[in-house]
Amino acid sequence: MTSTRMPSLFLGHGSPMAALEDTHTTRQWRALGERLPRPRAILMISAHWETKGVLITAGEQPRTIHDFYGFPQPLYDKHYPAPGDPALAKQVAGMLAPYARADLDSWGYDHGTWSVLTHMYPDADVPVIQLSMDLRLAPLGHYQVGKALAPLRDEGVLIMGSGNIVHNLRLYDRRPGVPAQPWAQRFTDTVKAKVEAGDHEALIDYAQLDPEIDLCFPEPEHFHPLLYILGTQQPGERTEFVTDEVFSSISMTSVLVGAEPLAKAA
Ligand code: ZN
Repeated sequence: MTSTRMPSLFLGHGSPMAALEDTHTTRQWRALGERLPRPRAILMISAHWETKGVLITAGEQPRTIHDFYGFPQPLYDKHYPAPGDPALAKQVAGMLAPYARADLDSWGYDHGTWSVLTHMYPDADVPVIQLSMDLRLAPLGHYQVGKALAPLRDEGVLIMGSGNIVHNLRLYDRRPGVPAQPWAQRFTDTVKAKVEAGDHEALIDYAQLDPEIDLCFPEPEHFHPLLYILGTQQPGERTEFVTDEVFSSISMTSVLVGAEPLAKAA
């Protein structure tokens, strides 16, 4: 086991179809999986699992959940067979006690998890646990859960959040090459500037960050996973943006925390 601190990562996931696609974005996910130190396990916070209280998948072999409608059959045939990690689930439940509890089979891996991990770790050989977001928490609460989880980074656990900084499906124009909506680009840029400045307070208070915040996301569940990842950031740790693109009303911008910089080409 490595003694190095694992980075943590917020990933913009976009459409579940990414699981089947070979695009600039999915190739960057693949490169990330190759670049980061190999984790002992992944703890994933997905925008697609919200519950009352915090649940943690605790099964030996969590199932692949196809939590979407109207997509082509091959997407429903896709499974991500990574093992769970019941011992880690128990440990995490203890870290968040009495607030969190292990969940044997009400959930599994939703597409926020497997549509990206199938590219980052295509062999599905890194154990994964998912942690739900408590619907009742204020933004600061999500951030604090991330803070409580941060020590896992020193135990080889890759803490990941999967969502989108801007996520408005109603206004999404899926034609190729459609530029970013001005407010979508502006909000993404604002968030990046605050992340770079380490201004977590402003990001927790995100409703004040943009006059058109309601366009950026009618509901905040795709933004909230970012707060967990910011909560894991240690003083002075560097941040880096990857898959930094905005398509129409979806921001794919991802935030990598605490990773070694890429070596410059000689
Ligand atoms: Zn989503």
